[in-house]
Amino acid sequence: MKRLSLAIAVVMLLVPLGLSAQKKPVIGVSCSIDGSTVEAGMTYVVSVRKAGGIPFIIPLTTSEKEIDEYLDHIDGLLMTGGEDVSPLLFGQQPSRNLGEVVPDRDIYDLTLIRKAVKRGMPVFGICRGIQCLNIAMGGDMIQDIPSEVPNAIQHRQNAPRSYGSHTIKITKGSLIAKLLGVEEIAVNSFHHQACGKVAPGYKVTARASDGVIEAIESADGKSFGVQFHPEGFVYSGKDEVLPLFKHLVKLAQEYSASR
Ligand code: MN
Repeated sequence: MKRLSLAIAVVMLLVPLGLSAQKKPVIGVSCSIDGSTVEAGMTYVVSVRKAGGIPFIIPLTTSEKEIDEYLDHIDGLLMTGGEDVSPLLFGQQPSRNLGEVVPDRDIYDLTLIRKAVKRGMPVFGICRGIQCLNIAMGGDMIQDIPSEVPNAIQHRQNAPRSYGSHTIKITKGSLIAKLLGVEEIAVNSFHHQACGKVAPGYKVTARASDGVIEAIESADGKSFGVQFHPEGFVYSGKDEVLPLFKHLVKLAQEYSASR
């Protein structure tokens, strides 16, 4: 009897302290557009779910008002992979080796990121997502690695997405070093572009052996990105990179509690 009343007292104490079940944060997932269809890979959706968030695909729009309305409904932002970014957006002319550009998606991605960062909302960028994060915050790009980086290794692997084809060196003490618990890891690689000059307030936190930037993070740690595809690993059950998504969800939870 004594033990039961003690248990009830503990529960009565904890519930008002907010230690009851928390609502899962909503993670906005950026989409791509194929003709008139908006889409996002299940790899991203499943990774957010596995990390404890609710994935919410944000349909493409170039309207600032609509982007604000979407941001009102989410707690964190996951920027996904995709096409090349227009070089006019970072002060360069198009390289002969520039790939497909989707002007509306450029506006959508950069506006989402700028507005999210301004609100203090966490942002995690993957592949095109890290590049858009860097450009949105004032950095620039390498438009084509093979023609611009001397002695570049292969960054467009011909192997399954679950396979790590090249290694990266991670900066000691960085966010991603803490999350992954290693200073070197083999990553998958599906890009011919990369971050160039890094945006003010951001630092490089991982590089490939040829110097290509593979991760960046902001000084406040609320926005970060990787050039590889952790969602491709998580989707196939290689969960050693799941902490990257769990961190986004944790930051989103904090953002949600503070708004
Ligand atoms: Mn790479």
